[in-house]
Amino acid sequence: QVTIVGSSNVDITALMARLPGPGETVLADSYQLSPGGKGANQALAAALAGAITEFIGAVGNDSHAGIALGQLEEAGVKLDRVTRASEPTGVAIIQVDSAAENSIAVVSGANSTVTGEAVQAAGSIEGILVLQGEIPASGIKAAMDAATDRIVLNLAPVIELDREYLLKANPLVVNEHEAEAVLQQLNPQLNLEFAGKYERLAGLLVDEGIDSVVITLGANGCLVADRAPLENGGAQVRALPAVKVKAVDTTGAGDAFTGALAARLANGDDLAQAAEFAGKFAALTVQAHGAQASYPRSLQNL
Ligand code: ADP
Repeated sequence: QVTIVGSSNVDITALMARLPGPGETVLADSYQLSPGGKGANQALAAALAGAITEFIGAVGNDSHAGIALGQLEEAGVKLDRVTRASEPTGVAIIQVDSAAENSIAVVSGANSTVTGEAVQAAGSIEGILVLQGEIPASGIKAAMDAATDRIVLNLAPVIELDREYLLKANPLVVNEHEAEAVLQQLNPQLNLEFAGKYERLAGLLVDEGIDSVVITLGANGCLVADRAPLENGGAQVRALPAVKVKAVDTTGAGDAFTGALAARLANGDDLAQAAEFAGKFAALTVQAHGAQASYPRSLQNL
């Protein structure tokens, strides 16, 4: 099983010729409401990748709640421990112009109620635990304290977490920017320039004491780092290339990757095998528009 403790949102996306400046009103061409939030995206990906999946989070007592959870329900994700908060369902208000430039405001709403207390009250965590940075740090820590299996930590966005909790990640899944920010948290004295040298960055994160690290690099695939077996015990880093595809929209690709990775770990794959599968799964999602809408409903092409 995979248990995701995290955020769920409704994305309100308006398409317009150009983004409004401060104090300005522009007429938009169309808008769309779609389910989002890293936690919910990852839960859907884990379920579609074949894992028994539970999502623990919070939505509001409003009409957006049904949109936020609709796809998860359809995919059979367990939702019994999603609470109804007095805060509204989280929303991301997204404006996109004709050059695909965007500006985004996120309102956490109900996601901000997924605190340490709330997670503790939810009870035991079944199977592999998956976390992101869109709920309060106290909620992340409480979930980690309750976990009995390995913890997949996708610290996106990067928020402050005590060292002892960062070191519980196995793997830490981050993109190159997030990887640098986490290393900075672990070792503020290090002042290195990593542009293009992400193997080094992955190795240093393992040297700091994280058991395993996956750095996603978009169309360049990912790096998988862990401790080498046997006596030397240093970091070993492997590069996995991405599948070559024509990308039309990479929204939610990172979440698809993380959810699919967790599903395969739950299935007994080792980390490199799971990352290879996750890369194939994520490559399918970049060939269609949207986040959850682009996730493959069948695993036939994998
Ligand atoms: P994030 O959106 O979190 O920065 P990435 O852009 O690194 O995440 O994408 C996550 C994973 O999705 C990559 O490691 C890769 O496997 C896959 N992916 C992303 N973009 C592409 C692409 N253009 N072609 C093929 N695979 C891709």
